[in-house]
Amino acid sequence: LILLGSAAGGGFPQWNCACSNCCRAWAGDPKAPHRTQASLAASSGDGRWLLVNASPDLLTQIIRTPALHPIGLRASPIAAVLLTSGEIDNIAGLLSLRERQAFTLLATPRVQEILARNSVFDALDPALVRRQPLRPEETVEVAGLRVTLFPVPGKPPLYLEGAAAAGEEEDTVALELTGSDGRRACYVPGCHHVTPALRERLAGAEAIFFDGTVWTDDELQGVGVGTKTGRRMGHQPLSGPDGSLAALRGVAARRKILVHINNTNPLLIEDAPERGLAAAEGWEIGYDGMELAL
Ligand SMILES: [Zn+2]
Repeated sequence: LILLGSAAGGGFPQWNCACSNCCRAWAGDPKAPHRTQASLAASSGDGRWLLVNASPDLLTQIIRTPALHPIGLRASPIAAVLLTSGEIDNIAGLLSLRERQAFTLLATPRVQEILARNSVFDALDPALVRRQPLRPEETVEVAGLRVTLFPVPGKPPLYLEGAAAAGEEEDTVALELTGSDGRRACYVPGCHHVTPALRERLAGAEAIFFDGTVWTDDELQGVGVGTKTGRRMGHQPLSGPDGSLAALRGVAARRKILVHINNTNPLLIEDAPERGLAAAEGWEIGYDGMELAL
């Protein structure tokens, strides 16, 4: 597994932001390293790769990741792309994958419908890009791995709020990857609240990548960059008695890694005291280029 990007939508620093975190990143502070928007690459080791979400930073991520470089004249090792939602930061990178390359595009029927309704994605040649609907709890094999999507509490993408809400339970899904030896990894980049079913799902995984968007619910207001709460954006805050770290306490997994970290989150700063609090709960802070061999 290679964590291609570890930031939430907007990346770090965000192009138009001068919050205190972003200012440190703009200034090149080594304790505030730049991050691209969240994405994961996975492979069983057979040379084929599954891309989990296609972020707007996809080209940068491929350039930095030798395993994803072309393996022949117009031949990418990326065999499939899987989308966990229709959020812009998960789908915009599809537009960079349009140069006559065959791959399979996996997403729930709900997200496939979002793509089908946006004609700009017709740039992906239907003769080469096979769009395969994958319902929650259905399993397919991709790049030598068993791939299963499962629903998590979330919300529809901001740009679709107010539109027909049919199939809303499929708007946000998480991913379970299982190797031939039965070992599992779960990737949950967005989650509005932790349910008992989710705790059960995550328990016993080799690795959990979990929604680390905001540390506190009112964080954007606190730094003066917005009025929305984390929960309003579909993300449970990490800290506090109602936070996800408390809700996930006791869930056993070999590695627990926070991803999809917003540019306002104090965890982005390497000497922030909040890092110690996350570490005390057993959580690592994901970073761009982080590799895990399970
Ligand atoms: Zn910022």
